[in-house]
Amino acid sequence: MQFLSTSGGAPAARLESALQNALAPDGGLYVPESLPRFDRSDLEGCERLPEVATRLLAPFFAGSTLASSLTEIAGDALDIPAPLVPLDGQPGAHVLELYHGPTAAFKDFGARFLAACLSRLESKRRTVLVATSGDTGGAVAAAFHRRTGTRVILLYPAGGVSPRQAQQLGCWGDNVETLCVRGTFDDCQALVTGAFSDAALVARHGLASANSINLGRLLPQTSYYAAASLAHRRASGRPVSFIVPTGNLGNALACVWARAMGMPIEEIVLATNANHTITDYLRTGHWQPRASIATPASAMDVGNPNNMARLLAFAGDADGVRGCVRAQAVSDDAIRDEIASTFRESGRIACPHTAVALRVLRELPAQERADREWVVVATAHPAKFDTVVEPIIGGTIAVPDTLAALLDQPAHAELIDARLDVLVTALERGSQGRSR
Ligand SMILES: *Cc1c(COP(=O)(O)O)cnc(C)c1O
Repeated sequence: MQFLSTSGGAPAARLESALQNALAPDGGLYVPESLPRFDRSDLEGCERLPEVATRLLAPFFAGSTLASSLTEIAGDALDIPAPLVPLDGQPGAHVLELYHGPTAAFKDFGARFLAACLSRLESKRRTVLVATSGDTGGAVAAAFHRRTGTRVILLYPAGGVSPRQAQQLGCWGDNVETLCVRGTFDDCQALVTGAFSDAALVARHGLASANSINLGRLLPQTSYYAAASLAHRRASGRPVSFIVPTGNLGNALACVWARAMGMPIEEIVLATNANHTITDYLRTGHWQPRASIATPASAMDVGNPNNMARLLAFAGDADGVRGCVRAQAVSDDAIRDEIASTFRESGRIACPHTAVALRVLRELPAQERADREWVVVATAHPAKFDTVVEPIIGGTIAVPDTLAALLDQPAHAELIDARLDVLVTALERGSQGRSR
């Protein structure tokens, strides 16, 4: 399959270059030239995530040098549990837990898949440059740590991530460098985009992006929506509707693509925090990016969601987007209240991002709530956000073993100004001789 730029001014690209280059040469994002359509029988017998992913992603890999490795890539990268569990006390409602990977957030699926792909592609040396709102950086570092020939540079907003996320961003050493940027996530994202707009810089360092603008992260995310919706239909005969905590729109876009590929999915509701660029767009039809504001669901503090260009490319225009997804914004107070209410009612401890989606579920019109099977997507383990969640539930959260191991390591990040020349200096300095 070939991949096209959302800006429409670049030649179609092969999968290999879509994976290695963050942006198309015209500054757009790569999208598949078409989405394959699957029938019921096509995915019969596939239950485990790696199997579903192999079947689902085969058309995208067809004709690429990675096609023959897809089974292995999916097996290496996606062997992470993604259970669909009932939400206690809420008939017809479920939670899709995507936080059982090494860094306890859904970003592990995409980051590991991308790393598995890139490590199988020919390249002399490569620098993976990543802006993170908290969870991407850790997942990408975990996926690329100690892979020879690859240098990883993480940029995160100072004060914009939880203390445990900061720890998880700075604890790697070896081939991973961590930059703490005086600015917001959007500033970090703008720095990365700026670096990628400099063709000479990109070539000199073999810059590759592992942000959610990279297709290699989006494609595998379709597989857990496929696996969960197929499993639910097998068990109950009914399709599901998803409520997706949304920031940069990568996770939700994968859900939209999965539905378009024929998966048994009805409604897709985007749950955002007080950064309401998307809800405004659906209301007004005008895309008006704004500065991000800090909320308790910090990994979703995005004022200029990057993947909007892809959703628009898919849906055509504002009416198309409205026909495709709905969106609801949730206030900071409602997030905190939801963490408390969910804990009280079901004993479930939700991370603040998952709480955004749980709130949207709670506020659905009664008829709609009753008519459909709803799945709330749980994007991170609450232990990553202990400073927000523990005071609300009045107790401590057990830390998963893999996360605990990272929290034990010493951490280091270099504080920098949000300026492209400063980032370029850090890049040029090279990674030789650096340690934590
Ligand atoms: C990244 C992230 C999100 C937002 O996902 P997008 O793909 O950026 O919309 C939500 N929750 C958590 C915990 C995250 O880390």
